[in-house]
Formats: sequence, structure tokens, C-alpha cells
Amino acid sequence: MVVTQSQLVVVKIGTNVITKDDGLLNKPVLRHIVEQVCALKKGGTNVILVSSGAMAAGRSLLTPSVKTGNVVKRQMLAAVGQASLMHEYLDAFNGHDYLCAQVLTTKEDFRTRHHYLNMKNCFSALLKDNVVPIVNENDVISVEELMFTDNDELAGLITSMANADALVILTSVDGVYDGTPNEGGAVIPVIEPESTAWKNHIQSGTSQFGKGGMLTKCSIAQKLAITGIAVYIVNGRSKDIVLDVLKGKKIGTYFRPHKKASNVKRWIAHAEGMERGKVVVNKCAVDILRSPETVSLLPVGIVNVEGEFEKGDIVQICQENGEKLGLGKAQYNAERVRSLMGEKGQKPFIHYDFLFVT
Ligand code: GLU
Repeated sequence: MVVTQSQLVVVKIGTNVITKDDGLLNKPVLRHIVEQVCALKKGGTNVILVSSGAMAAGRSLLTPSVKTGNVVKRQMLAAVGQASLMHEYLDAFNGHDYLCAQVLTTKEDFRTRHHYLNMKNCFSALLKDNVVPIVNENDVISVEELMFTDNDELAGLITSMANADALVILTSVDGVYDGTPNEGGAVIPVIEPESTAWKNHIQSGTSQFGKGGMLTKCSIAQKLAITGIAVYIVNGRSKDIVLDVLKGKKIGTYFRPHKKASNVKRWIAHAEGMERGKVVVNKCAVDILRSPETVSLLPVGIVNVEGEFEKGDIVQICQENGEKLGLGKAQYNAERVRSLMGEKGQKPFIHYDFLFVT
């Protein structure tokens, strides 16, 4: 895919890309990324940045003296570091006559469609006025269960919300490998939306200073590709990498996208963790839901209902062996679907337009 003018690209910058080996901010790398973003903007492509690095910046300024747990230390480092990180960005963008804006968010902000739309409106307005939004998790107030898994998850949500054309994940390796690099492993150039082979090659675990690992990166990338958004995983420290990859140069790993899904379907695709209940479906329903046809989930295919949800809530769809199948927006409350499950001729429990199946 070649990203052309008037398209929107999200660039996600991992902690390890903009930190040095000692964990402190790597300013020249940060500045080079900003330079590339400004070049894209000059060429007519709009950009949103999702940047980690608050904690790393905080570490270079403060050693918390208070006797306190890790959670408070993390909050302190983020509070100090986010200001310093933004200072670096402001300075770098000023040099190119562009304005940037800080957007801090929490998982809670994505939970309700109302909040989600509020946030979406703000992004549209910033982009329209040629401002580059720089998003990070609000680490000062997001603790424990309110936290995103990592900024890759946040970048996925932002990309989907902004209806971007592509997401470029800048990391500290050259792409997704099919084996250990110094034992003959090579970068996988293309991953198709329905491919599962990549899962066999990736070890779980995170990179040195950031929270994310390749496994989350790939599952988020594939989810986006299924809903029609191209994703690249590339080495963010390489010169001109963002420009090159968007020009179509074959570098790193490319997740080839399907046709673009609707806004609401994309929102549902990233609603994991927001579900209020679960329905288990039989084998026949699994086959139908996975077919390329336009199908809805009917009560006849449901064999079990867990939790108490209302009409309009997000529910998880599972197979009888416990494997997750997808997510959807309930058209009946839990009590009603319990009374209808297994019955033929009933209206859909999840309409096709509100259904996301992996
Ligand atoms: N939000 C964290 C920071 O700015 C990084 C989270 C991550 O590494 O994914 O330091």
C-alpha cells in the first residue's frame, strides 16, 4: 500500500525507540521522527502520534524519594516525565512551524460510545486545524484494572477511532521474525488478515523498558487489518523509515488489510475488556459466523448465557471449547436471550452490523 495525500496515518512510537540503552530519552531519534511527520504533513498526509516515553523521561529527572509502592512511583515518574516529553515534542515541532497537542487518555474513555464520540470529535477538530495530536495513556490516573495492556492497545483504539488509513508501529526490531534473528530467523514481509502462522514464531514477553511485546503488537495489527486498516511494524530507529514505508518500500512487516469495515464495527472490534457478559454458541453457529456471508447471530445458535447485560451492551461470543470468537452489541438483555436461546425464528441477538468475528 502506498499512502497518498489526504490520508490519515497513526504513528506509534515505542519507549525503546526513543530511549537510549540507559533508559533515558534519545532526543535525536525523537527529533528525526518529528522531522518525518512534518515532511508527511507538508505532502498533505495527516498524522496522529501515539508516543510512549513519559516514564523514561521521568526517570532522567527524578528518583522518587518517598517510601512508597511501585504504583505511586510509576505515577510520579509519569507526571514529571510527560511534561518533559511534551517539552521535547513542542520544541521539535516548533522547529518545523507545526503545532502539536497533548492528548492523555484512559481505558475508561473508550468504554462508552458517547465518550468515544466526544474524543473522536476533538481529534477531527485538531486535525482540521493542522495540529498534530500526541497521545499517551494518562499513567498518572490509570492504575491497575483501568490500564491499557500497553500503548500498542491504545494505538489500535486511536487508529480505529480516527478511521485512519494506516498504523505504523515503530519498534526497536526490524519487524516480525519467523525465528530467532541470529539463528537464521528472517522478517516476515507480509501477514494476511486470516493468517495464524505468525503466532507460532512469537515468544511472549516485553521489550526492555516499554510495556508491550510482539504478541500484542501482532494481534492488534491483525484486528485492524481485518477491519480494513493497513499496519506496518518497522524499526523506528532507521533513517527515514516512516517516509519509506509509506512510499511503499518493502521494509519490516506489513499486515495486509481487508475491505474497510463500518465505524461502529471497528469500535466493536476493539471493545475487548468492555464486555458486560458472554454468550456461548454451538459449532453450527461458529461455522456460519465465520463464513464470508453477511450473517447475524440468532438465538437458535446460543447454548449458554453468562452475566447480566442490557440491550446495547457489548458481549463476548465464545465457542463451546471456551475459545473466543468475537464481540457484538446485544439486541436483547441477558434475561430475554436466556429465555430465547435455542429457539428458531427469533430476531437476531447480534445484528451483522454490530458483530465482529475473528
Ligand atoms: N505510557 C507509558 C509511558 O509513556 C508507556 C507504556 C508502554 O510502554 O506501552 O512511559
